[in-house]
Amino acid sequence: MQPSDLVLAVFLALFLLHWALETALDGLNLVHVLRVTPRIPPELAAQVTPGQQRRAAAYAAARLRLGLVRRTVLAGAVLALLLSGVLPAWEAALAGWGLEPPHRGVGLLVSIFVALGIAGLPFSLIATFGIERRFGFNRSTFPRWLGDRLKGLALSAALGLPLLYAVLWFMGAAGAAWWLWVFALVTAVQLVLAWLYPALIAPLFNRFTPLPEGTLRSRLEALAHAAGFRTRGLFVMDASRRSGHSNAYFFGLLRPRIVLFDTLLAQLDAEQIAAVLAHEIGHFRLRHVLQRVALSSVSLGLLLYALSWLIAWPPVFQAFGFAASSPHAALALAMLCGEAFTFWLGPLGAAWSRRHEYAADAYAAALLGDGAPMREALVRLNTENLAHLQPHPWYGAWHHSHPTLLQRLAALRAPSTVPGGRPA
Ligand SMILES: [Zn+2]
Repeated sequence: MQPSDLVLAVFLALFLLHWALETALDGLNLVHVLRVTPRIPPELAAQVTPGQQRRAAAYAAARLRLGLVRRTVLAGAVLALLLSGVLPAWEAALAGWGLEPPHRGVGLLVSIFVALGIAGLPFSLIATFGIERRFGFNRSTFPRWLGDRLKGLALSAALGLPLLYAVLWFMGAAGAAWWLWVFALVTAVQLVLAWLYPALIAPLFNRFTPLPEGTLRSRLEALAHAAGFRTRGLFVMDASRRSGHSNAYFFGLLRPRIVLFDTLLAQLDAEQIAAVLAHEIGHFRLRHVLQRVALSSVSLGLLLYALSWLIAWPPVFQAFGFAASSPHAALALAMLCGEAFTFWLGPLGAAWSRRHEYAADAYAAALLGDGAPMREALVRLNTENLAHLQPHPWYGAWHHSHPTLLQRLAALRAPSTVPGGRPA
């Protein structure tokens, strides 16, 4: 067996394992959700009607079915790109048209990006105008949807193309330590983008208005003050332009802006919104946000370092039909093959995130001096967003970044996690 055959065999085995695992988990969850639906958990019998439960099951089932087809079609597209020899042939064609590196590499990588984007497009349309519309969430129109896509594309081109040229240049010119330079560059770009995002990028898609003066604002400001949490202000985002789903989030790393969806304000009362804010403050005060940024930074460094080793090993390129190693072929293979090697990190990240959610819930309960508003907010958000109450435990363990509603309610009721006083 040639080393390149071994590379191909290992890749295919992991790729198919990943596909089979995800497909089996989706199927398992689909069957489970449909089977358990008639039984509403007794602790929620007062808040959830059988009709709501059936709708949540139908919504979960529709999304799972679409996800199954989508994953299989995209996996087929990735395998076709990798195994058909189309990439080396396309690279040769680009060279034949007189494109020299780095333009040739950019041409190859942009083509892959576009091909995968086109393969995913029908699923985005079905999700938005089929499923989300059927369950009453979609508020977007086709022109707005198309406009969002085009703006996203223009933004990716404006930010991504210069970055891609710079990365390819470092990979070619900086010697064996190129990965360190690329790491520094990408980290710097991420920091600048995090800084520019609220002022320049987010307003391209949504309108942000300061939360109007009134009892809600006074309540939330008092809460932030009590937590010793400095913000750049409270904003309302017109999320209802696109979707009825509700949420809240923060912009920024050190002194964030708090963003509340207008849908959230419409669905929750003031004390429940205070609980949601307290939960988000918990993520900041417990340093979850910084830990997350640090972890993604370390992961990026490790992946680039691994790539710097693989790029010097010809069998990796021969396995997929490339005559020689090159920075752009390495990036193309990383883009298409990477997930087959890193997918098992997803469940680890999800488990870590669930721990953070429990901790932020407990923080919110302690800050408010009472677990009830957090529990009520969670129940309300769960029903408004049609989240199914009982996903299969294996599916949840693999995919869910948040514990289920029942798990969170149970943790909030446990006396040890609600100390009653204010956190130090
Ligand atoms: Zn959270």
